[in-house]
Parts: sequence; structure tokens; C-alpha cells
Amino acid sequence: MDHLQKFNAQVRNHLLAILLANNAFVIAAGWYSMEVQHLDSQVTLLIVCLSGLVLTTGFTLLSTRYLTAPLRTIWQAILHIAPDTADQPAPDLKHLVLGKEAVTNLISHIYQLASVVDDIELTTHKEQANPKHDFVANNLPLPLIILDATDNILFANQELLRYIHKTADDVIGKNFYAVVDMSFPNDKTFDKWLADAKARKAVATQTWERVRINTESNEEAISPQCDLAAYYNQNNPDGLETMLVFFDHTTQYSQDDQAMSFVALAVHELRTPLTLLRGYIEAFDEELHGKLTPELDDFMKKMAVSAQQLSTFINTILNVSRVENDQFELQLHRESWQEILTAAIADLSLRAEVRGISLKLDLPAQLPAAGVDRVSIYEVISNLVDNAIKYSNTSKTIVIKAYQNRNGLIETTVQDFGVGIPEGAITHIFDKFYRNHRNRAQIGGTGLGLYLAKAIVGAHGGQIWVNSTEGQGSTFGFTVLPYSQIADELKTADTSRTDIVRSAHGWIKNHSLYRR
Ligand code: ADP
Repeated sequence: MDHLQKFNAQVRNHLLAILLANNAFVIAAGWYSMEVQHLDSQVTLLIVCLSGLVLTTGFTLLSTRYLTAPLRTIWQAILHIAPDTADQPAPDLKHLVLGKEAVTNLISHIYQLASVVDDIELTTHKEQANPKHDFVANNLPLPLIILDATDNILFANQELLRYIHKTADDVIGKNFYAVVDMSFPNDKTFDKWLADAKARKAVATQTWERVRINTESNEEAISPQCDLAAYYNQNNPDGLETMLVFFDHTTQYSQDDQAMSFVALAVHELRTPLTLLRGYIEAFDEELHGKLTPELDDFMKKMAVSAQQLSTFINTILNVSRVENDQFELQLHRESWQEILTAAIADLSLRAEVRGISLKLDLPAQLPAAGVDRVSIYEVISNLVDNAIKYSNTSKTIVIKAYQNRNGLIETTVQDFGVGIPEGAITHIFDKFYRNHRNRAQIGGTGLGLYLAKAIVGAHGGQIWVNSTEGQGSTFGFTVLPYSQIADELKTADTSRTDIVRSAHGWIKNHSLYRR
């Protein structure tokens, strides 16, 4: 209160001084006009009135700025702490004359009040956030993990720790990729999605099926397999940028794997009788060549084709099972690509012929020698040509071309003019078990051919692709490396070897800090 009284007194004294000064000047002007200048009374009165007017206006203007300075200072202090105008600088109290103590005191009270409000807001926020946090942590029956902008783990719930066999100390603050090692059934991996979301979107969501969690501790035990859902928000105010939830399906997926292993086991047993059968068919064909009626000759061809198709089916199942179990190995040798392709097409042309389709092979005069595994790459050619035959519909031509592409790789394309692939299906075409619903009822298949072809081409160091228009046909293409490119690798490898051994993997590893 002292400060306020002092402020009152200052204002009163100031106003008094102004009024006195004002009056003194007016009186002085009258005296000066009459006594010194000897002007007559009317002119003197006019001068007194005019000087009164001018002086009062001048003093009023000067006093207003001076008298309102405390109010302006307080106003600036309020703006300084208000959230909307926080960039306003704090008032400078040094130059304040009128009511300095009162204003300083008042402003310090305002600042105190603001900090109390901040504290209340912070506590309320914490009180609101914590129960939710705890609720999620303790009760969510799904493994949940939250990452910050640098992919470090901010939060992991109990279920997650149990799932990956780690403690909170092992994971909190650590890089996600160093802690959770995941493999995906195709190359649309989590790390690629996250990089894309970070680059392009403020908010994004995505789900994956059949993700394998590679745990270090249980080499013998079955790796957990799950579906994964991720949410990304670049603008999360608390820095909780990426959230992942795991839905465990280990039992279901490992049952599928066991079923696959069982099928592979059963199919394996078909190999020996089928090889015998094919041998007898060939023997009959040679023995009876030219002696059969056209009808019996046709039966013979169809028998040979069916045996060949059964053989492809068996090889596909066995190879997929090997790829799944990381047991698929290739041995890359120097081979003539023209020779491989010509032999394969000759072999497959019987299948095309019984469907009334002709295979046209278009080869350049010159092609570099390829570095390939003959048996495995035959599976790729066979699957692509088989599909072209199956999905040719009424069209009667399939064109197979090979050439050296712009990157120096040997590229082979298989073009049909059949049913084609709908745009939405193209991204799934190489996924395991994927079959387009539009033709799966009419045309038999397993959905494994392209999956296997991709794994084999990938292991060769090449790439497989498709261009297709529904109703017009499809072109599948793949690349293999010229032998000269892999020869460098041979030089640095064990000198006693003349081939390069590569493995085909069904599982694509997510980016890992422990990438092997
Ligand atoms: P499938 O045994 O079903 O042929 P694939 O893995 O070889 O399995 O092919 C997967 C799916 O891709 C097929 O079900 C089919 O829908 C589609 N597809 C493959 N090749 C062609 C093609 N040449 N033309 C049209 N669709 C094709």
C-alpha cells in the first residue's frame, strides 16, 4: 500500500506542478504584454487567452505520456507472459520515473501469478497423462512400443518386454533396430515405410502380415511371428512419433509352416515314381514315334505334358520349402544364356503346343556369358512361361526375348497377350500364396511360382518385374548378371573354387544395426 500511496502523491504533485507552471506562464505573459510591451488591455487579454490555450495543450500532451507510462509498462508485462504474444519483450523498468516502485512491485506479482498458473497447468497435464500412460502400460494385452524422432525407444509396455525376452533397461533409450530384429515376407519392410512416412507425411498408418521376430535367446525355439500395425505422427507434441503394436500369430503361422513342411515331405516322395513315369513316357514316345494314330499321338503328348507339369509343381513346392528354411543354395557358373534359354523353350514348347500356343524366341546374335545356376534359373523361366501359357486366354502367341540392357545386365522378358493383371493386384503378385481372385476359380495354381522366381532371381543378384494391362496381356522380365561381373567376386574368394555359392531367402530382413 505504501507504494500506491507514494504513486498517488507523485501524481498529485506532478499535476499540481503542471497547473502552477501553466498558470505562472499565463500570468507572466499578461504581465510582460502590459508592463514591458505597454500593449492595450484588449490585446493583452487576447495574448493571455491564447498563451493559456497553447500552454494548456502543450502541458496536457507532455503529461499524458508521462502519466500513462506506468500503465504502458504493466500492459507490456502482461503481453510478455501471455501465451499468444510471448515474443513481446519484457518491459524495461530502468527508465520509469513515475510510480516505479508500485509498478515494479505489481509486475513481480503478475510474474509470480503466471508461474503459479504454469505450474498448475503442468501438474494438471501430468495428472491427466499419467493415468492413461499407466493404463496403456499395465493393461494393454498387446506388445506396444513407442519411438521418438530418431527411432530411439521412448516407451515399451510389459507385454512387449515379455514378447521379445528383454528388460526395460535393455530397451528404453536404445535404438529400435538394435533391439527388435524383424524379418518380412517381402521387401515392403517397416524401415522403408518409416523412411517414406518421415519424408512425405505428417501422419501415416500401415499394417504388415507374417512378420518374424528374430530373438537371439531361443535359437531352438520357434521364432515369434506376428502381424504388425504402425502409426506415425511427425507433429506429436510430446515427441512420441512412431507407435508399433504387435499381434502375435505364432501358433497359426507356425501351423502353416508345418503344413508346408508336411506337403514338402509328401511331395518329395512323389519325385521318384514321377521320374520313372517320365522316363517310360519318353521311352514309349521314342519307340512308338510315327507308328501311332494322330489321336493316340495326341494322348502321348498330353501325358508327357502332364508329367512335366507335375514335375514343375513338385520342384516348386520343394524349393519354396528350402527357401523358407534358408536351405536353398545356388552355384553360379559361367553359362551361355542363349543355350540355356533355347533348351528351356524347346522343353516348354510341348506344353504350349497342346494348348495351341506357339513360343517365339527372339535372341540377339551376341550376348555375354551369364553367371547363373542352370537348374534354378530353369525354374524361373519355366514358371514365367507356364504362367504365360495358363493366363493366355484365347491368344496364341508368347514372345520370349533376351538382350543386354542399359546397365549391362542380361535381361529376359516373357510377353503374353492374355488376361493381364488388374492394377491393384500388381503389387501383390510376387507375394507368397498370392493368387488373383478374378481367375483363381478357373485356372489352377498355388500362388508360389512368382514368389519362388523372385527369391531365385534375387539370389542371382538380379531383379524381376512385371508390366501388365488387364485384358491386354503381361510382360514379365528378369535380369541376371554377366559372368564377367561375378568373376571379380570369384577372384577374391577361395581360389580352389570355380563357382559362387549364394543362398535364396524368403525373409527380407528389416534394417538392423546388426545387419549380417
Ligand atoms: P499361380 O500358381 O497362381 O500361377 P504364381 O505365383 O505363378 O501362382 O502367380 C501368382 C498370380 O499372378 C496368379 O494367380 C495370377 O493371378 C497372376 N499371374 C501370374 N502370371 C500371370 C500372367 N502371365 N498373366 C496374368 N496373371 C498372371
